[in-house]
Amino acid sequence: MRKLASCLALAVWLAHTPAWAADLPSSLASATATMQGAYTFLHENPELGKKEFKAHDYLLDALKGLGFTQFVTSAKAPTAVIAVLDSGQAGPVIALRAEMDARPLEVGAVEPASHAPRSHIDGLMHNCGHDIHASILLGTAAVLIANKDRISGKIVFLFQPAEETPGGADDIVHEKILDDLGVQAIFAEHVAPGLPIGTVAIAPGYTLAGSNYFHLRIKGKGSHAAAPNEGTDTPLVAARMAIELSDYPARHLEIANRPVVISVTRLLADGNAGNVLPADAELSGTIRSFENIFKSENATPSLKERLDQLVARMATEAAVDTEWTVRPGAPPTRNDVALFDRAVTPLGQAWPGMLDTHPGRGMFSEDFSYYTEALPALYFSIGVSKDGRGLASVHTGEFDAHPDVFAQGLRLMTSLAVIGTTGRMDWR
Ligand SMILES: [Zn+2]
Ligand SMILES: [Zn+2]
Repeated sequence: MRKLASCLALAVWLAHTPAWAADLPSSLASATATMQGAYTFLHENPELGKKEFKAHDYLLDALKGLGFTQFVTSAKAPTAVIAVLDSGQAGPVIALRAEMDARPLEVGAVEPASHAPRSHIDGLMHNCGHDIHASILLGTAAVLIANKDRISGKIVFLFQPAEETPGGADDIVHEKILDDLGVQAIFAEHVAPGLPIGTVAIAPGYTLAGSNYFHLRIKGKGSHAAAPNEGTDTPLVAARMAIELSDYPARHLEIANRPVVISVTRLLADGNAGNVLPADAELSGTIRSFENIFKSENATPSLKERLDQLVARMATEAAVDTEWTVRPGAPPTRNDVALFDRAVTPLGQAWPGMLDTHPGRGMFSEDFSYYTEALPALYFSIGVSKDGRGLASVHTGEFDAHPDVFAQGLRLMTSLAVIGTTGRMDWR
């Protein structure tokens, strides 16, 4: 049975809680119920980016029910729910962010029948844990509004749409919503399959890659398949380009110090018959890196310029025309070093032996990066694995998390709120 056991979750929370939180009032129990209710609703009602209408209404109503009265709307991302908690005490303004959107499953796939709660919509599922993050943030809001006399400054609870699709964090940043609220630092967490429950991982500096997307259209000369010498054999040219692009980082960059992954995700050449070599082909894919691929460093060509040259050279050799475009996606995610230095000691006290400050990096990207470009930010990974649960990767139908993650997430986010607004890991 996959059930959020509220009593168990609370017991786990308290068992791992340092002295500073031992006198936390009974609001924890109601926060656990709040998280349980939100998670069930959000998981059963997955919605795609910018269409999180049910999630918007649920979260807004829940926050109002908790006593929140100050909300900010986003014109570009209207399903966002942004609530402000003013402690009434002078102090910093910080933001805690969670995502709201779900994802489409592979065509014809549904969430496994053993999952409970389970998606009510075939083909759609919360398989990146955003329902978990949003539920934990709501639970955090419940705890903090009940204890606002113990914190300083203001806390902005940012429920952000469309992490999986364009225009979530970047809309919020471009609208200057956080600037207008005077936010000085922002924090977020993401579930990490395979990381044991109770572990929190964070490293200073670049922690997730930036993403860029390319599209290459090849225009050559078609021919009978029996006479490739009479045309450009465009499918073969496309295949060679796919290999050269994919091979490029490991063979042309100092890869140990300059990690780059280029993956061709779509390769299309259709002669529409077994004996026709088509004139045209297309390929597209992604470039992941911790650098800005459009920017040249130390008077050397940028990665984009180097790839431009590669494509042009191969096109000339193959006597084909090309249209080659590269567009930027999310920038790399960077944890602010000074903020990390300030937070790591008190967090180490709250997570004795379980705070991993040297986690492995991945070439995944995340739109939290837009905030990290705009203001000091920290992005945490939180373990979801226990008793054989929480091992399946995000973005798969099998993804799940051990229910203890809610108590751990609540502990992390409340800790960050206290550290962020008071600079200490104790209630005032
Ligand atoms: Zn995702
Ligand atoms: Zn995600």
